[in-house]
Amino acid sequence: MTSPRRAHFPARLPGSVPDPRPAAAPERAQAPAARGHGLDSDAVRTRMVERLRALGGMEPAALAAMQAVPRHLFLEPALAPQAYLDNALPIGHGQTISKPSVVARCASVLLQALGGRPARVLEIGTGCGYQAAVLSHVAGEVYSIERIRALHELARRNLRALRLPNLRLLLGDGNDGLAAGAPYDAVLSAAAAETPPPAWLAQLRPGGVLLAPIGQPQRLMAYRRIAGGRIESWCVEDAHFVPLKSGLV
Ligand code: SAH
Repeated sequence: MTSPRRAHFPARLPGSVPDPRPAAAPERAQAPAARGHGLDSDAVRTRMVERLRALGGMEPAALAAMQAVPRHLFLEPALAPQAYLDNALPIGHGQTISKPSVVARCASVLLQALGGRPARVLEIGTGCGYQAAVLSHVAGEVYSIERIRALHELARRNLRALRLPNLRLLLGDGNDGLAAGAPYDAVLSAAAAETPPPAWLAQLRPGGVLLAPIGQPQRLMAYRRIAGGRIESWCVEDAHFVPLKSGLV
């Protein structure tokens, strides 16, 4: 992530914590288990994308992003052979990588609700960085915030080899959104809240869309800021996300 194209981002956002350590080798990119299962071939991802397309309602740009991002590089070598099945899988610290169908659905809903490519997106809950990478293919700029330091660092390592200059990772409590990058065309949460934290709606531009798992039982809900500061909302589908928590660990 050292491309000069990154220069349009502020060198350091308030609230972000720079990682002072040197770049770790992208060890998973070279994991023999992943190579041994043929996961580096485009054909495995093509089959996954065909299954996603068959679900219906997916945007071509979202499917192209799913084709482009090698999900197996975000998993432990032992789990990599399952990377292109439609599973949520453990990434450590009690968290999971989202299912491909959920990532594709969220990207599609955002593209449809906004009528095209969002200029700027905030993701709450980076986890291993997979969805952030997918979003970076469908949006102009992506900010992604994570509260667990070890996962923030894992995501940094996973993403380094992919060189996505429009993606910025932050360590912080996403309950407050990320004021430094606001306003956003879209805020997308990968963690479920009881009700949407006010900052997520406040940091949307007029017409912008929040997509988040909400309530108990969970529903994937979309919210749009409309004229007069009013909010319209609709339910996308049932959801099963990890809970939104507070504070840094
Ligand atoms: N985006 C990931 C999914 C990660 S799971 C993917 O690509 O698959 C959801 C993540 O939300 C977890 O890593 C969890 O630690 C994080 N999270 C939960 N509460 C949070 C908060 N308040 N701020 C930031 N991240 C949070």
